[in-house]
Amino acid sequence: MSDIEAKHRSLHRALKERIKGRLHFDRPGRLLFATDASLFMVEPLGAVVPRDAVELGHVVRLCRDFNVSVHPRGGATGLAGESLGPGLVVDLAAHFTGVGKIDAEERTVVVGTGTTLGALNRALKPYNLMVGPDPSSASRCTIGGMIGANATGAHSIVYGYTGGHLRRASLVLADGEIHELKKGSLAEQPAAWRGAAPVCDEWREEIARAYPRQHRNRSGYNLRGVWDGATFDPLPLLCGAEGTLGLVTEAMLSLVPIPKATALAMFLFDDVHAAASAVPALLGWKPSSVELIDSHIVQQGRAHDDGFAALLPAGTGSVLLAEWTGENAEEASAKARPAMEELTRPRGPAREVRLGRTEAEKATLWRIRKEAEALVANLAGRFKAISFVEDTAVAPEKLGGWLRMKADILARHGFRWATFGHAAAGELHTKLFVDLADPGSYPRLTAMARELYEAVVSLGGTISGEHADGLLRSPYLDVQYPRLHPAFAAIKRAIDPDGLFNPGRKIPLTEHPAIHFNRLGGRSAAPHDAARLRWSGDSLSEEAAACHGCGACREPSATLRMCPLFKATGDELASPRAKGNLSRLVRLGPLSPDEVNTETARRVADYCFNCKMCHLECPSHVDIPKLMLEAKARQAEKASLSLGERAVARIGALGRLACHSHGAANWLADRRAMRKAGEWLTGLDADAPLPRFERGSFAAKAARLHQPETDKALVLYCDYDVLHHNHALGLTFIRLMNALGYSVIPYTVDGCGMPALDMGELALARRIAARQIPALHAQAAAGLPIICLEPTAALTLREEWKNFLDDSRLDAIAAATVEAMRFIAPLLPESGLKAHAEEKVVYHAPCHLLALGDKPGAPALLRRFSGLQIDDADTGCCGIAGAWGLFAKNRELSLAIGDGLFHKLTTGGFSRAISECSTCRLQMRRGAPALRIQHPIELIAETLLAEAEMVGGA
Ligand SMILES: Cc1cc2nc3c(=O)[nH]c(=O)nc-3n(C[C@H](O)[C@H](O)[C@H](O)COP(=O)(O)OP(=O)(O)OC[C@H]3O[C@@H](n4cnc5c(N)ncnc54)[C@H](O)[C@@H]3O)c2cc1C
Ligand code: SF4
Ligand code: SF4
Repeated sequence: MSDIEAKHRSLHRALKERIKGRLHFDRPGRLLFATDASLFMVEPLGAVVPRDAVELGHVVRLCRDFNVSVHPRGGATGLAGESLGPGLVVDLAAHFTGVGKIDAEERTVVVGTGTTLGALNRALKPYNLMVGPDPSSASRCTIGGMIGANATGAHSIVYGYTGGHLRRASLVLADGEIHELKKGSLAEQPAAWRGAAPVCDEWREEIARAYPRQHRNRSGYNLRGVWDGATFDPLPLLCGAEGTLGLVTEAMLSLVPIPKATALAMFLFDDVHAAASAVPALLGWKPSSVELIDSHIVQQGRAHDDGFAALLPAGTGSVLLAEWTGENAEEASAKARPAMEELTRPRGPAREVRLGRTEAEKATLWRIRKEAEALVANLAGRFKAISFVEDTAVAPEKLGGWLRMKADILARHGFRWATFGHAAAGELHTKLFVDLADPGSYPRLTAMARELYEAVVSLGGTISGEHADGLLRSPYLDVQYPRLHPAFAAIKRAIDPDGLFNPGRKIPLTEHPAIHFNRLGGRSAAPHDAARLRWSGDSLSEEAAACHGCGACREPSATLRMCPLFKATGDELASPRAKGNLSRLVRLGPLSPDEVNTETARRVADYCFNCKMCHLECPSHVDIPKLMLEAKARQAEKASLSLGERAVARIGALGRLACHSHGAANWLADRRAMRKAGEWLTGLDADAPLPRFERGSFAAKAARLHQPETDKALVLYCDYDVLHHNHALGLTFIRLMNALGYSVIPYTVDGCGMPALDMGELALARRIAARQIPALHAQAAAGLPIICLEPTAALTLREEWKNFLDDSRLDAIAAATVEAMRFIAPLLPESGLKAHAEEKVVYHAPCHLLALGDKPGAPALLRRFSGLQIDDADTGCCGIAGAWGLFAKNRELSLAIGDGLFHKLTTGGFSRAISECSTCRLQMRRGAPALRIQHPIELIAETLLAEAEMVGGA
């Protein structure tokens, strides 16, 4: 056993003895903490998720004793590799959360540093307050990470950096104890920090000279204003120290009022140089922010989104977005108008300008800026958009000249690039398109970076205006601070003499780490082994490499729907990012394909129930659910499934059997002792509600209906619910469609096979789908629409079957398949029927309906044609996810995910609830047993067609 392995084991054992928080010491677990949003991958010795400050103290003391470095991590959204390292990664985002005292008069808040900026701002909103600095990663970056990186955002010309808003901080130092840092006398500071004063004394003159004289700079330790010989202010030094001087657990921040009103002007230019050169003039009209977008992003937006194509006419070469604040919308707009008149033709260089005043108008204009990063990242193929020299900054009046210099240097080194960002502060993000698998890229990158940095420093600018030094910029600190950089090493030695905290940044490195640490560096030219699902060409490898670690899928609020499992656990392993990382590690190395079967890899895959929300909402639309189905198919080949999992996979056949002997099946389901025994045998939760089994076959009942002769026909695709549990729903649908002039052909062969796919039983899923293709294709070819009452069935027929079956008939089936509410919506106006019920109903949108890409039609439809008040629950996933929530091992998590919905159902004064998905309705019954819960079709039939006396049993 090597020394490293021995140390690894001993530290792991010691941590296990002292702390209860999660530990990740196996290889897959460690590698899931080896990346952030940068291009680096640094495998740590382990990762730990301490639950409180006491455990954090143990962690630090043990690391000191074992001589292992400590790498604090928040949301890990850093673009420069700030939180990566070879020692122990400490995840502070999971537990150090919570908003403490909000003092509205003093405009301060005390907050746990694991809290995201988005969550903190939501808590502050009722007080009309917010945190000033607004990084665009606000939804998932933590206060600790903002302090570590001294973050700022689009409004930096008004609010500055995080450092300007920090009043005090609690931090754990090498002794494992919590200390307080705030401005005061030297004697009041923790002993370790007092050593910074003599360093400041020694370097006083150089400190006054060395920093760029401009608004933006994030490079190096900030030693200005720390020690004047009488007062010591540790906070400027702590902010931007990138976790190298201690672990911050709590912070007091000062706050700013939320602007009462804003106006947003969008200026369109012929090219990026014209836009950049217009910035100094624009700043004369005192906007609160000016953001720039280049032609590359405009073209990507126009190519992929009709909304952008309508907003940005052909020929638009660049965009400036400028915002003004005011007491009201009129005042804000009035401030914008002079700039709009002077900067637009015939007087100025802009070819066109638009003004957004309402929230909706502003959101439309902002969207292109918000999606800029994703639009650049979406470029397919070998060339990826990377952050390497992405945040140089100069004084805004030099921006036009700097852009030309930069273009010249990048062209000479043969790089294509795109740019966007904070023009008001003289900082434009530069994304380079690079083939990281090409070893020749690194020498070119590092040579170009040095030349580019020397050029920006010669203009009085900075090598980093926003994203910190990290592993990326530390090798170039000598360019930025040719004389001062030894003082940084002295500061580190004084405060952290053992180099315990996050070493490897803030001090010049002798060799550029990208050579060793590129996250795609292990990429093989050919795939390791055959894919289990269908992936065209090498698209499995492409998809596995597509997640760039931005962390948008770590959004904890209900604003975005993804990812229910991450939201409920806060566990990195549950995040879609971890699932993307695992897929990349297995597909492109360094993990072997067999390691998809390790315990950690299984846990990661178990943490995905294929709701598809991340695929929908990830800015780069990485198909994480398909990657996880691929992983599950591989896992199912190696390890046998439980009895319960196998039963769920075969729910179609078992359901048919149960309907034949429905009396016995329902009797068994009602017996607690039987359910308990069943739980022991199958793992299916004895307390979960089970749907009743119907008597006989749906096909026979449907055949007994007298359908009218009509020239319009459709196919009703009967999924498991209608086939086995809810004959009345299928029959109601047939009657409703008859009334609307259609005859209905029920298709009752089997369900769609999604449960088999979810369990990893790919061969079974293939058999189920394959035997349905001939008949469904014949119907589709005859021009019949195939209507699904179950959104999951519609999704499976339209998209999922193509993921595992190669059959040219699937396109026709997919094109003919329509979800029922979408089909029915345009038909109802012709019915002329009116509702006569007045009541309050709540609607829950199923994930798979959203995944179909359609806005749910039911609420608008019912509002339009009835007197019903339909409230959208808007509480995210219900937590059932097919059969996932029916397993005892998932019970708690399933209920926790559904908690918001249950609360809404039981406290909103609703008489009933509706949802298209049968398992969502099952879960809704679990959370609100007293409420009447229906498919919207049943409500339509009952309320809208009551006049026609359409309602009746089978
Ligand atoms: C799409 C995208 C957009 C971005 N936009 C912006 C932007 O507009 N402005 C901007 O400034 N940045 C931006 N960033 C960079 C990044 O989001 C910010 O730097 C953010 O503040 C990092 O927060 P985090 O919680 O992810 O921290 P991490 O990345 O986890 O850590 C950042 C640094 O802080 C240290 N750290 C974390 N927590 C603690 C703690 N509790 N105690 C001590 N040290 C700690 C880490 O060791 C690391 O050095 C963006 C990143 C992405 C991916
Ligand atoms: S899955 Fe998407 S949202 Fe999540 S980290 Fe990857 S790219 Fe970002
Ligand atoms: S498909 Fe759903 S459960 Fe799976 S990772 Fe995406 S959001 Fe999470």
